[in-house]
This record gives sequence, structure tokens and C-alpha cells, in this order.
Amino acid sequence: MTTDQNLHYWQSFAETVSIEGRAFIDGRYQDAESGEVFDCISPIDGRVLCQVASSGESEANRAVAAARASYVSGVWADKSPAERKEILFRFADLIEANQEELALLETLDMGKPISDSLGVDVNGTLRALRWTAEAIDKVYDELATTSHDQLGMVTRNPVGVVAAIVPWNFPMLMAMWKLAPALAMGNSVVLKPSEKSPLTAIKLARLAQQAGIPDGVLNILPGFGHSVGAALAKHDDVNTLVFTGSTGVAKRLMIMAGETNMKRVWAEAGGKSANIVFADAPDLDEAVEAAASAICFNQGEVCTAGSRLLVQDNIADEFIEKLQTAFQAWKPGNPLNPATTIGAMVDDIQMKQVLGYVEKGSAEGATLRCGGEQLDIEPNGYYVQPAIFENVTNDMAIAREEIFGPVLSVIRFKDEEEALAIANDSIYGLAAGLWTSDLSRAHRVARKLEAGSVWVNQYDGGDMTAPFGGFKQSGNGRDKSLHALDKYTELKATWMKI
Ligand code: NAD
Repeated sequence: MTTDQNLHYWQSFAETVSIEGRAFIDGRYQDAESGEVFDCISPIDGRVLCQVASSGESEANRAVAAARASYVSGVWADKSPAERKEILFRFADLIEANQEELALLETLDMGKPISDSLGVDVNGTLRALRWTAEAIDKVYDELATTSHDQLGMVTRNPVGVVAAIVPWNFPMLMAMWKLAPALAMGNSVVLKPSEKSPLTAIKLARLAQQAGIPDGVLNILPGFGHSVGAALAKHDDVNTLVFTGSTGVAKRLMIMAGETNMKRVWAEAGGKSANIVFADAPDLDEAVEAAASAICFNQGEVCTAGSRLLVQDNIADEFIEKLQTAFQAWKPGNPLNPATTIGAMVDDIQMKQVLGYVEKGSAEGATLRCGGEQLDIEPNGYYVQPAIFENVTNDMAIAREEIFGPVLSVIRFKDEEEALAIANDSIYGLAAGLWTSDLSRAHRVARKLEAGSVWVNQYDGGDMTAPFGGFKQSGNGRDKSLHALDKYTELKATWMKI
């Protein structure tokens, strides 16, 4: 197939795909009780894709009640891990069978390139679900080391009702990082997708039902954060709240939980990650390509975006020159074209935020090396050419605040000590990269970086086997790996006298 045919294929598919916008509560798609809806707008061209139910407190109450009833009945929680595993595998198979439709919905809704929706989002979703399902009948409980007349059992219990609130940048993948371990451990779940990208989560509900997940165990509530999101965060019958999103909202959710039933709150929040290139990097060209991808992939709308590029003084001029060339491969285009590497910003608000930071960077005295302008790719679409700022200092807003767009701040450093000081001088601590041929330096710097993930001579490594989460104000707890199960279980000590 040529690129044009592929674009045509996806555009035709987009014309015919049927889109569900209602909430899914207790096994049934339904409108909001108030009848309120909001427009789901595609950032590709500003087209209204459908109307989405605007869930509120009443839907939150009904969904939590359904989740609680299904949990108490034992219809899911009392199945053996092997039985739950089988059903979750069927869920994964159905996602795979519907992968093109899911990828299309993700791209239409959120603006990311269709090749990423298929290759990254759908694949990652499948991997998260299958990896977790595979694990659950291999995770054993513990026996305490007691005297002969005692039996001490340490077991993992499901927490009960889990509310999950997720963002719009990887809508289906972030949802699955929560759903897979929550369901695997026997909980019932109410998931609130972002109002900016609710479509794939709504579709997943039907697939989960077809796979055999009982009614009430998985509920999806599209709607706005301040109404349905806050209703879930304040709900006295939610045991655990898991969140991925901004640090500001995470803090508010913690307060809401503290003021109500002290539900556990686990937050994966923002980042301002440093990618440090030492002069002895093994391959500068590879470091250049990775630095470009680290800020341009997914339109820079990535929590771990390598948004602060720290380059050692003596190679900085050469590095920035090469980087500018590498940025030419990151030209925004119609996301439905499989050749497109960078798509549309999620909405008008996000695009204006990014353009605002470009203005701010220049006003603060940084030098705009390239990019930073709005592009007219499709009428009414939201496209921004990726930008490089040089002569940035770490006290500027473009180095301190999460822009969540393709805007790179290049900061020079003298030596290892200064690089570490700059990298760690941030309220965030989600991820960091470092490039060096010196093995001792790699270990030294990796150990001292205040970040949940550290990548050496690459950017954005890791898979389902490694925990993912942040230090400092990037959050608490971890998604992925067996460590994620801790968020979805309470430990119980049962002590028997023999
Ligand atoms: P956001 O915090 O604005 O929204 C996240 C979710 O919270 C959405 O569903 C939203 O509707 C809801 N929400 C907003 N206000 C709320 C309120 N008052 N009460 C309850 N819910 C509320 O974040 P976003 O713009 O959707 O996503 C971008 C952010 O997510 C960035 O900061 C990014 O770094 C972060 N993120 C973090 C990770 C990670 O794993 N650490 C992964 C992806 C994204």
C-alpha cells in the first residue's frame, strides 16, 4: 500500500466508524441522568465526532453502588486467579481483534499519529493486560516464621472498589495500566477517562463485557474532572483512588480523600525530565536522534518527555547544530497518514498553552533556535512545529514548568557535579537520561539522580517488567510490574493458634 492509499483507508474508516459516547454503568450504556452531553471534538480538523454523556455526581453514585454490589457478591473477587486470568486473556484477544478501530478512535480523539496509536498504544495496552493476567496465578501469599503452635498467614486482599482517573495523552494505555492490575486482583472498578479523550475507554467497556467480566465490575464514566472526577474522589464508598495526571490535580485529590473516608490515593503525576549528554557519550548522533524523539514523540505530550536537555559545554555547539537537523524529521502532519511522525495537539487550550510558553521563553531571554509556530495543516486543526530553545537557564519557566508540548530547553553544563545539581533542581522526579562511555560515571550519576526511571545511553527504556512512577512531586506508588499490585491489595495478617 502506498502512503496515500493508507491515508485514504483511514479517512474512509473514519467516515464510517460508529462511535459510542454514553457512560457504561452496571453492564449497560446509558445517558447522564441530567441528559447533559458535551461535544467530542477531533483536534485533527475541529470536527465534532460525537456527543458524550456528561456524567456527574448521580452517575458516580450509581457506578460506585454497582461496583460495590458486584464486589460484595463475589462474582469477580471470588473467582480463582486462574479463572480471572482466562477472562482477562479473552479481553486482550478482543482488543486485538478490534485494534484498528481502537487505534482510529484514539487518533481521531486525541490527535496522535495513527502509526503510534497502533504500534505504541494498542500494543502497549495488550502487553499490559496480558503480562498482568499471566502473572496473577503466580503471585503467592506468605507464611510467617512462627513457633510450632501458631500459623501466621500474610495474604493479599482486594481493596474493594477502585476509582481510576486518567489523562488524555495515552488514553487507553494509561487506563489499562490501572485496569489490568485492579481487575486481576479481584477489585471492581469505576474509571473516569479524560473529557478530552473518552472514546477508547467507552469502547473497552463493551469488549470487557463480551470477554466475560461480570456487570458492575467495570464501569466507565466520561465527564469533567471537577464534577464526576471530584465526586469519585470524595465518595465514601471508594476504597482506593488511582490517578494519572497533573501534579496540581493530584494534590487536590489527596485533600478530597483526606477530607472524606481516607481512601488510599496513588498518583502518577507530572514531570520535567533531564536528559544529560556528557562529552564522552558513546555515539553523539544516536544521542541527538534520541533527544529529538524524547521531546517530539506524541507531540511532546508525554509525562517523561526529555524536556530539559543538558549538554556538556565543549560539545554543545556541535550538538545543537545536529539537533536542529534532526528536528526536520519531526514535521507535523495529518495524524491519519501512516507516514506522519507528529500529529495534532489535543485541543485548542493545549496548543495555546504551548504557544504561550514559546513566547515566555523568548521574553525570559532564551534563544529560539527553531520552530514554535502554529501550522495550518488541516483547517481548524491544532498543529505546532517543535521548538528548540538554547541559552536556557534552569530558573526560567520553560525549564521549571511542565509545558506538555514539543518545546525543548537546552541547558549547558561544565561538569558532572553541575549536571546533577541542575537535573535534580526540580519539583519533579519522574525520569532522567544520561549518555556517557564511562561506566563508573554511569553508575554514579544514575544513583544520584532523583528520578523513578533512569535511562543510560538511551531515552525511554523499560517494559512491563519494570515499575514506573515518580520521586518527589511526580507522584507516589508505581504502575507496571508486580509492584503495581501493591496499590490494588491490602495486606492481611491472619494468626491461628494450633
Ligand atoms: P489533568 O490533571 O488535567 O487531568 C487528569 C484527569 O483528572 C482527567 O481525567 C481530568 O478530567 C481529571 N481531573 C481534572 N481536574 C479534576 C478535579 N478537580 N477532580 C477530579 N478529577 C479531575 O491532566 P491531563 O492534562 O489530563 O494530563 C496531563 C498530565 O498528566 C501531565 O501533567 C502529565 O505529566 C501527566 N501524566 C503523568 C503520567 C505518569 O505516569 N506519571 C503519565 C501520563 C500523564
